[in-house]
Amino acid sequence: MIYDDNNVFARILRGEIPCKKVYEDTHTLAFEDINPLAPVHTLVIPKGKYVCMTDFIEKALDAEIAALQRAIVKVADIKGVKDSGYRVCANTGVEGGQEVPHLHFHVFGGRPLGRVLARP
Ligand code: 5GP
Repeated sequence: MIYDDNNVFARILRGEIPCKKVYEDTHTLAFEDINPLAPVHTLVIPKGKYVCMTDFIEKALDAEIAALQRAIVKVADIKGVKDSGYRVCANTGVEGGQEVPHLHFHVFGGRPLGRVLARP
């Protein structure tokens, strides 16, 4: 997969676009979604250049994968939804509805979220 260095999350990682940071470690950055769909809507991304979930799992080091998964739970804790419950979602590819071509996990919470998908 070809990674687009000018995607918006690459620009956030380079500090060219501001973000409201929630958490950061060696491999991971988490920040608030600019257009929140729930009281808690935070994005968790790897610092490495991975287009999507498939790209990440096929190429990333185990340490990067573990860090991202751990960061998601840390974000849930920081945002106060670890115990009340939350939803983690990585839209992947065209039919998965992915708009930004840098892997990101959405962490939603802060209200009852209903079913995962609306029935067509
Ligand atoms: P996707 O549809 O790719 O799964 O989700 C992309 C998400 O990125 C959307 O929820 C959108 O609101 C968010 N987003 C797009 N541009 C920006 C930005 O410049 N800053 C932040 N913080 N979020 C963004």
